[in-house]
Amino acid sequence: MLPAIIPSELTKRLLLARRVAVLTGAGISAESGVPTFRDALTGLWEKYDPAELATPEAFERNPKLVWDWYQFRRELCLAAEPNAGHRALVELEKIFPQFTLTTQNVDGLHERAGSQNVLRLHGSILRYKCSRTGQPFEDSFPLTAETPPRHPQTGHFLRPDVVWFGEVLPVDVWALSEQAAREADVYFTIGTSALVHPAASLPKIAMQNEAVVIEINPTTTAFSASASFSLRGKAGEILPALVQAVLSSRSTD
Ligand code: NAD
Repeated sequence: MLPAIIPSELTKRLLLARRVAVLTGAGISAESGVPTFRDALTGLWEKYDPAELATPEAFERNPKLVWDWYQFRRELCLAAEPNAGHRALVELEKIFPQFTLTTQNVDGLHERAGSQNVLRLHGSILRYKCSRTGQPFEDSFPLTAETPPRHPQTGHFLRPDVVWFGEVLPVDVWALSEQAAREADVYFTIGTSALVHPAASLPKIAMQNEAVVIEINPTTTAFSASASFSLRGKAGEILPALVQAVLSSRSTD
């Protein structure tokens, strides 16, 4: 396979950058074997639309179905390993004086790769909380036949600690992500279809504030036409090439 080509104009802009911010979506974990929302899931889950299981109404209607769906995805995430794209972002974090990584992913793979200070816009599939009060649950499940299990203090069903469609994002995480987008010299939008709001507005905020915005995605998205650079390909191939381009240009300066 040929190495991904990084435009020299982009490398020059990166060499000048001090404040870099990144938004990642499900696509960066695709090469780790975690399906994106737009991939068809086979077998057990093929008759369900994932987006329709990711709502408070779905949980209200059928808590067991939603619980089982999330346990199934949780197992996939735990079995997956960070890929070359996740690891390249760890390297980028070391290069720039200010680096902020916001992710829409709930899989924990950025943290497992070694990224520091990950801003998780949509929570974590690896954690649980009370479905009524939001009280965290960090224990092992009570031995009960009931599914979902109940929070031992509140008595209500447990649910995954993720942000469902129609729910409000964590205010502090959003504020930090928005600030990073406003202040960035360079903004990356990686592996996201740019359809889920408000996350999709972050690259636009960066653009309005004169950042160079780089999209990395094998396919065209709703944001592609606005991007300063659209790099078509897999994050696990383009990001390591980008790190290499920056490091080798630095050493020849
Ligand atoms: P999405 O499924 O809407 O879009 C995924 C994007 O990734 C697509 O544009 C696709 O072309 C691109 N892509 C596929 N393979 C890629 C690769 N190898 N490299 C780079 N890009 C690649 O995902 P989204 O935009 O993140 O929005 C969906 C929502 O679903 C998010 O809110 C997220 O929380 C949730 N989600 C999370 C996970 C996860 O944690 N891994 C998985 C599925 C869905």
